Amino acid sequence: MTKRHLHGATLECVQGDIVHQPDMESVVNAANAELRIGGGVAGAIHRAAGPGLERECRPLAPIRPGQAVITGAHNLPNRYVVHCLGPIYGIDQPSDMLLASCYKNALQLAEQNMIASIAFPAISTGAFGYPMESAVRVAFKTIIGVLPRLSSVKYVRFVLFHHADVRVCEDVLVDLMEENDDA
Ligand code: ADP
Repeated sequence: MTKRHLHGATLECVQGDIVHQPDMESVVNAANAELRIGGGVAGAIHRAAGPGLERECRPLAPIRPGQAVITGAHNLPNRYVVHCLGPIYGIDQPSDMLLASCYKNALQLAEQNMIASIAFPAISTGAFGYPMESAVRVAFKTIIGVLPRLSSVKYVRFVLFHHADVRVCEDVLVDLMEENDDA
């Protein structure tokens, strides 16, 4: 769980639950198009946030794959929730571009709202079937690509539910940071 520093920001991968990130100003929901309570991350976030979150989400739905919207965090210990609809792997095409859009749009919303810290789950890697390693590679490539243009966002955390995925995430991060050094 090493922290990495790049372009004045900190990046890290941790094992945990996205609803238990009290030191993060914002958390990201791996949302469904209707922005309703669901399984996985969307279920955990809506249960922890309470019914006020679904009420706030209603007029913002539906969203398209790659899109992101922002709401308050209600009973979660954060200020904001950024809701992203990831692509269904192999069905919403091109999946890699749509997944990259999720991260770009989420970071853009964070920037517009002067958010300093954001915690992401591994969008699309659960019910939507995206292989973890490829998904994390798209995620970090996108994050590292936009970091130089961000001024508010100083802390990006990746929260992995399963311990084994933390290793995958860290290996990809180290690999991409080395590529970035070489460039
Ligand atoms: P998607 O529909 O975008 O695939 P899911 O919510 O099904 O989203 O899963 C996304 C990833 O988040 C999966 O790797 C899953 O194991 C993980 N996950 C599920 N619940 C949580 C949670 N409470 N905190 C962090 N990660 C979670």
